[in-house]
Amino acid sequence: MAGTPKKINLCEQSQCTGCMACKQACQSKAIAIKTIDGFAYPEINRDVCKSCGKCMNVCPILNLKGQRGNCHEDTQTCLAAWNKSDDVRIKSSSGGVFSALAEYVLSRGGVVFGAAWDSNMVLRHKAIDRIEDLESIRKSKYVQSDVGETFNQALQYLKAGRIVLYCGVHCQIAGLKSFIGRDYENLYLVDVLCQGVPSPATFRSYLDEIEKEYSSKVVDCDFRNKDKAWKCGLSMYLALKNGAKIRRILSRNEYYNAFYQEFFCRSSCYSCNFKKNKQGFFSDVTIADFWRIGNKIPLPKTVEQKYAKGISAVLINTEKGKSLFEQCSCKIESIERTWNEFSTNGGLYPSSKPIHNDEAKHYLENHNWHETQQQFFPLTQRKKIRNILILTLGEKNIRIVKKILRRILRK
Ligand SMILES: Cc1cc2nc3c(=O)[nH]c(=O)nc-3n(C[C@H](O)[C@H](O)[C@H](O)COP(=O)(O)OP(=O)(O)OC[C@H]3O[C@@H](n4cnc5c(N)ncnc54)[C@H](O)[C@@H]3O)c2cc1C
Repeated sequence: MAGTPKKINLCEQSQCTGCMACKQACQSKAIAIKTIDGFAYPEINRDVCKSCGKCMNVCPILNLKGQRGNCHEDTQTCLAAWNKSDDVRIKSSSGGVFSALAEYVLSRGGVVFGAAWDSNMVLRHKAIDRIEDLESIRKSKYVQSDVGETFNQALQYLKAGRIVLYCGVHCQIAGLKSFIGRDYENLYLVDVLCQGVPSPATFRSYLDEIEKEYSSKVVDCDFRNKDKAWKCGLSMYLALKNGAKIRRILSRNEYYNAFYQEFFCRSSCYSCNFKKNKQGFFSDVTIADFWRIGNKIPLPKTVEQKYAKGISAVLINTEKGKSLFEQCSCKIESIERTWNEFSTNGGLYPSSKPIHNDEAKHYLENHNWHETQQQFFPLTQRKKIRNILILTLGEKNIRIVKKILRRILRK
């Protein structure tokens, strides 16, 4: 019936990804943020709500039916790729593909969105349009990023005819796509393969412990330092206000250890709707670490040499993604690999919720990270030894030793 106010209900809390498309679409400013379990969730202020229904129209979860992402088929192109600049690769999480895509867009007067630390070490999406600012949005930060008003900003740039590249995790890209509501030729969507995002609150509690231990504020956090090698990137570097730099390798890093065992992720991550086995990825290009490259199918010698500085896996999901990737060919080298080789990569499917996840969450409220690790996600001896070997021998040497051992055992 015309004039009847629409019944407004946001999506179920357990499914809400926190993309905040609803909040950004609400012109009455009737959606506030509440924190549950350390994550931000939208909440309607019924006194202000005008029942226009815009929030429901843009919610990627409420509009899942009939939607189909771009990445489904195992026949899809799967590339191994790396930035031709060693310097960029060292400064990136895996092969530095994101930087090449971003540089292309910036060189054409475009705007790039990515996740950066603010002055309080809160991770927020922001827009950059100068190459000098690219560093701040490079690299994976393993915590949920606050998108703020960036969907609205991206839309304004698109309407003004600027090229926009938005990089985020799958649910943020699905949220942006749903928010924008139509195809823009000048919009490139790039997602990073995501095994799940831990809460800003658990990350803050980890930083609080470090700050207490060293009596100084943490001012920067590098989750993927490659001083030793790509896979040693799984050790964290923290910069303190007093100038000190701390390195926390996996065996001494409870936060990382919890992340790798998929603890403390947002509840929607455990049934992520934007994975290959569900709706699929909504991006034009998906980038990931090509962790197990060369394990099943030998790598050409020239590529083997690239290994230590990181190799990305790239899934080309649309024609637009293909054309973007081709435009960057002067900065990226790539070779085709098989899906079979890539498909064992963890982030392709929703994370599995550890049985004691909720218990561990409550335990952490009253105990420190070390005690929580001992109780719920202790490091196995095997992992400890592996990490020490990588750090002492270097990853390349370990691969050589492994190869020799395999040959000997086969004989
Ligand atoms: C939370 C998370 C989980 C991941 N899980 C996996 C996995 O299981 N398997 C796998 O192969 N790869 C995973 N990745 C992707 C991988 O770590 C690299 O980001 C990817 O290979 C791109 O590397 P790069 O060298 O091309 O670019 P980089 O320079 O590393 O760029 C990374 C891009 O991701 C953006 N970004 C960083 N942190 C966040 C965040 N928290 N939320 C949204 N956007 C962010 C940055 O702004 C930048 O645009 C994950 C990334 C994140 C952020």
